[in-house]
Amino acid sequence: MTPTQSFPLAALPERFHPELSGIDLHMHSIASDGALAPAQLMKLCADKAVGWAALTDHDTLDGVAEARQAAEAHGIALLCGVELSTQWAGVGIHVVALLPGGEAQALVEGSPMAEALRLLERARCERAERIAVRLEKLGLEDALARAQRHAGGRAAVGRPHFARAMVEAGLVADQAQAFKRFLGAGKLGDIKALWPELEQVVGWIRQASGVAVLAHPLRYGLTRRRLGLLLDAFSAAGGEAAELVSGYQNPDRGRDLARLLGERSMYASLGSDFHAPGGPLAPGRYSPPPSSSVAPVWRHPRLAEWFDERRPRGSIQETSA
Ligand code: AMP
Ligand code: MN
Ligand code: MN
Ligand code: MN
Repeated sequence: MTPTQSFPLAALPERFHPELSGIDLHMHSIASDGALAPAQLMKLCADKAVGWAALTDHDTLDGVAEARQAAEAHGIALLCGVELSTQWAGVGIHVVALLPGGEAQALVEGSPMAEALRLLERARCERAERIAVRLEKLGLEDALARAQRHAGGRAAVGRPHFARAMVEAGLVADQAQAFKRFLGAGKLGDIKALWPELEQVVGWIRQASGVAVLAHPLRYGLTRRRLGLLLDAFSAAGGEAAELVSGYQNPDRGRDLARLLGERSMYASLGSDFHAPGGPLAPGRYSPPPSSSVAPVWRHPRLAEWFDERRPRGSIQETSA
């Protein structure tokens, strides 16, 4: 008899705990600034025993259909998602939309989410033009065309594509340096003015019957007080969840974040924010979640049914065993 190996996690727990695994609700593909095709990403999820997954490319649902097909073949429960670009108090803030209605519903012509994604695509294109003008002054010739080439014509251009162009042109040693000097928060190439306001984006997610999740709260360089203000503004706008764990983060700050979420009765999500193989991150790899009484996002009333109706199978491991 063929031995069958299934994903280690059948049902998700009611609470966060340090051994929680098999779920990743924040990942990227080549539909935005990730390195893998959506189908390759799902294969990697299966290899890493991630049975619950959300593809959350920047400002686009373009990769979800391909990911869904592959997810079905691998026995992965794939939740439709997208990471939306916003601004709040002059800071670029990312909001993950978890959309249990799926991509078909979200993309219906004339729906608020379809309109929102079109608006964000236009904002991203215009922003890329402005970034290109600035980087050309620094010596990056044909900046827009170069960045577009790194986006492979598939994705709307983002700062990582400019970073790759700068590395290629020999202006910086690596992408990290490109962000540190030219593209990171507050630098010349960090243009946020074109992004819609946080409140508006949260509103679009609510209209799409989705759950708005504040992405990687600890990565905006905010003081604890300002992070509290951000969480308050996000909650007031109708945001109901935040990523308690995003990739690798300081355990003390993670525990404190759990407290901040608890005080506001917010739900907690988690994900790797995986972009490319080769680094420390992989699908389903992140800091151990703090033990916390904060409710996990899969218990949110608009998501619980979606999670309850699905069980990862891990079929690819059965067939290849
Ligand atoms: P954009 O969506 O064009 O604003 O680009 C933001 C993306 O740039 C993030 O999602 C990350 O993938 C990447 N990024 C942000 N900061 C850094 C950094 N310091 N080093 C490398 N990549 C970064
Ligand atoms: Mn990214
Ligand atoms: Mn982000
Ligand atoms: Mn991300």
